[in-house]
Amino acid sequence: NGLIVSFGEMLIDFVPTVSGVSLAEAPGFLKAPGGAPANVAIAVARLGGNAAFIGKLGDDEFGHMLAGILTENGVSADGVNFDQGARTALAFVTLRADGEREFMFYRNPSADMLLAPHELNLDLIRSAKVFHYGSISLIVEPCRSAHLTSMEVAKDAGALLSYDPNLRLPLWPSAEEAREQIMSIWDKADVIKVSDDELQFITQNDKIDDEAAMSLWHNNLKLLLVTLGEKGCRYYTKNFHGAVEGYRVKTVDTTGAGDSFVGALLCNIVDDHTIIQDEPRLREVLKYACACGAITTTKKGAIPALPTHSQVLTLLNGAKRRKQSFSFQS
Ligand code: ATP
Repeated sequence: NGLIVSFGEMLIDFVPTVSGVSLAEAPGFLKAPGGAPANVAIAVARLGGNAAFIGKLGDDEFGHMLAGILTENGVSADGVNFDQGARTALAFVTLRADGEREFMFYRNPSADMLLAPHELNLDLIRSAKVFHYGSISLIVEPCRSAHLTSMEVAKDAGALLSYDPNLRLPLWPSAEEAREQIMSIWDKADVIKVSDDELQFITQNDKIDDEAAMSLWHNNLKLLLVTLGEKGCRYYTKNFHGAVEGYRVKTVDTTGAGDSFVGALLCNIVDDHTIIQDEPRLREVLKYACACGAITTTKKGAIPALPTHSQVLTLLNGAKRRKQSFSFQS
């Protein structure tokens, strides 16, 4: 299997032990390891793919715990650095009773922001068949330069570049700065995945339709995906576009659904990029990715909820059987 290298932040989310409270009201918190790029790497490995993570952690108990989580899950930590001075990033996250997500980040600065270009494992980056990243690593130096260097090295070595902006507005100095920086690397990516909310944010328009999505197209892009939560996703290529429906499951926590979706997509195209140009095969891959996203919502937390290949097949086969019996009766 070709190597998928994911670059960016890995951190610990602290989530309240009870749901529907504000951060101040929470009686206690549980550790939930995360960080979108790290989740993507683990999603790939859980499905049987070959994954590595590049980033920086604090040389503290939390940092070593996170590196352990990568390796226990079969993700290479050869590109992980430890900072002697700064702590592993932490975020306190709650879903309040009004449905709003509340974040409080401890990054002043945290180790992930201090990854410098000279610390990069360039051999690992050069061996990537797919190089995946977000936008949080663009916010401050020296991590921003490390991010830009890695992208260039990966591209020169022939990797497919995959971008999921994963907007986290509270981390940026302003919305304008977020939009500008997210777009500053837009035309480098071969594959881009945005959520419906991100589409609205980037286009500065409430509309979530083909026209809005197509306004994000760039000349070198091979595949643009817009994920729509339980409704599935829409896909756009140079020659065709369409939609894939989501799967109905008992959702308890949507954290990590997007990362699971991306991991599944990358796993399925890493060894054969031509799938992107072939609509029937691409649709099969996207059904698989939607099933992965759906399964990830059925358990609390991101990493514990990422599915194995056989769990995905069970959902896909079950859905097919339900469809067949439906068409038989009708
Ligand atoms: P994240 O919460 O990780 O930031 P995201 O906003 O990037 O997620 P979503 O659109 O929420 O991405 O989810 C990605 C995919 O996961 C969707 O395209 C869909 O297939 C699946 N999915 C997400 N939520 C649900 C749900 N409630 N029920 C079924 N499938 C879901």
